[in-house]
Amino acid sequence: MCGIVGYIGHREAWPVITKGLHRLEYRGYDSAGIALLNGDLKTYKKAGKVSDLEDFALNLDKSGTIGMGHTRWATHGEPCDRNSHPHPSGNGKLSIIHNGIIENYAVLKEALQAKGHTFISDTDTEVLVHLIEEIQERDQLELAEAVRVALTKVIGAYAIVVMSKEEPEQLVAARKGSPMVIGVGEGEYFIASDASPIVEYTKNVIYLKDNQIATLRTDNLVVRSIDNIIQTPSVQELSLKLEMLEKGGFDHFMLKEIYEQARSIKDCMRGRIYPGEGKVQLGGIKDYTEKLKNAERIVIVACGTSWHAGLVGEYLIEEYARIPVEVEYASEFRYRNPIISEKDIVIAISQSGETADTMAAIELAKERGATIFGICNVVGSSIPRITHAGVYTHAGPEIGVASTKAFTAQVTVLTLIALYVAQQKGTINQAQMVSMLTELDEIPTLVEKCLAQDAFVKEIAQKLKDSSNCLFLGRGSGFPVALEGALKLKEISYIHAEGYPAAEMKHGPIALIDEDMPVIFIATKNSSYEKVISNIQEVKARKGKVIAIVTEGDKEVKKMADYVIEIPDTNEAYLPLLATIPLQFLSYHIAVLRGCNVDQPRNLAKSVTVE
Ligand code: GLU
Repeated sequence: MCGIVGYIGHREAWPVITKGLHRLEYRGYDSAGIALLNGDLKTYKKAGKVSDLEDFALNLDKSGTIGMGHTRWATHGEPCDRNSHPHPSGNGKLSIIHNGIIENYAVLKEALQAKGHTFISDTDTEVLVHLIEEIQERDQLELAEAVRVALTKVIGAYAIVVMSKEEPEQLVAARKGSPMVIGVGEGEYFIASDASPIVEYTKNVIYLKDNQIATLRTDNLVVRSIDNIIQTPSVQELSLKLEMLEKGGFDHFMLKEIYEQARSIKDCMRGRIYPGEGKVQLGGIKDYTEKLKNAERIVIVACGTSWHAGLVGEYLIEEYARIPVEVEYASEFRYRNPIISEKDIVIAISQSGETADTMAAIELAKERGATIFGICNVVGSSIPRITHAGVYTHAGPEIGVASTKAFTAQVTVLTLIALYVAQQKGTINQAQMVSMLTELDEIPTLVEKCLAQDAFVKEIAQKLKDSSNCLFLGRGSGFPVALEGALKLKEISYIHAEGYPAAEMKHGPIALIDEDMPVIFIATKNSSYEKVISNIQEVKARKGKVIAIVTEGDKEVKKMADYVIEIPDTNEAYLPLLATIPLQFLSYHIAVLRGCNVDQPRNLAKSVTVE
């Protein structure tokens, strides 16, 4: 995963790079490091966060207008100073930062060791910089050419930046499978894993493509393919705004993003629903309408929270569009020879649009002739570029590692797809469509009401904060909500939590229930309400502590539960959009009360760009 920032131009590089690394810390925060070229090649690196690196380098000379920095999510070698990037070559002339995995590093390392190279770190990255050095010295090549030749020997995924003491007026960057954006300024260039470190300096960006190598100098940029063919990159204008990347008065990005959901759901629906006319319009997939109407099956591939959104999508698409849906973990799908044909539609869901397993699943399904749609949040990311069509979630940048507004936006898009196909197929009639869209249009207002529960949910969090385990139960589309609630709690508070379909409790998890086990029920008034009430009784009979998400005005559950959190009444189809919100607050407050780092939970990173 990891974040990369590079700068070449007239500004001091250190502040540009550290600020950029802070913005990219969501991608990894095991260690941070910076290399600067200023006559000499200077490297500063430290295990820990970017702020630890800043403290370490406080009184050191950090001058220089060319540099590159890295914030790491370790794949090869523990997080420590020695394994931190940048990594020098054996002769000390080169330095590299890398995002991704060099899969054949062991073979390359052995061959290089046989030639006399010695390695300081345990990383795969260090092998690559030694390989570049070896090729450069052997063939007397310029840096960019040595990088290009070295990359032809590499198997794996990478975004790299390389600097050379002997060719000090340039940065050489390349990518395959990991994202890389170049910012084009006046007499300066920026390079980063996403546009967030660049946006305050320039709006003009180039998304480097796979197998491209860029040489950045203050006054020019040259892009070549790995086959050494000159490329003409296209400059695009960023729509990202600086304030979207700031906390805006909230204590954490996660809290800000929870609060943004009324707006983000609205943005997601904007221009796509026409309640009066009972019409859904999805420009991104409209060319595939016939294909969708005739689809015999839809397969959804995703990971983590996006997989939970996929499960909600399964309920909605099957219920309204009457097309069978399978929801697969992308990481499993790609390795198990799945039965996929040109008749299938595969929907890939990923907030970042860079999730490595999801990308590999797409490639596999594409090879087998399926039509692929993407549901992604980051505009211009890799998945939208490799899919046939797609629908952006338009939730705005999500920086908190635990996904919140991206989940509800993904669910909104899946709802729109279900209704769009239902309309096209005629599986729901026009009157139903008008009424469903009218209710959907109301959701942002109802989300506001859920957000108003913040302080109340915090009080419940106080009571639960010392729990060691937690069970989340729901039925129907309340089940994926339960899974998502449990995942959120695990991710940020480190409390062990499980999500189950409520009726499955009797088949095992009920054994865990005692007075120390909080059980969180999704118990809203819908088709399975009565059944859930029975499940609540079963838990109470075993002295479990019950916290229930109920429909406003509910009396029955209130009598049984220890705490109830009310959400507004709505169409059952939209339950996940509302019921998720109190669960997000619950994990947020529990994590804060336990003193956890909510935005940067341990061992995690936001875009999982390694498999
Ligand atoms: N594989 C490299 C390492 O372990 C880079 C990981 C990353 O993308 O941060 O250091």
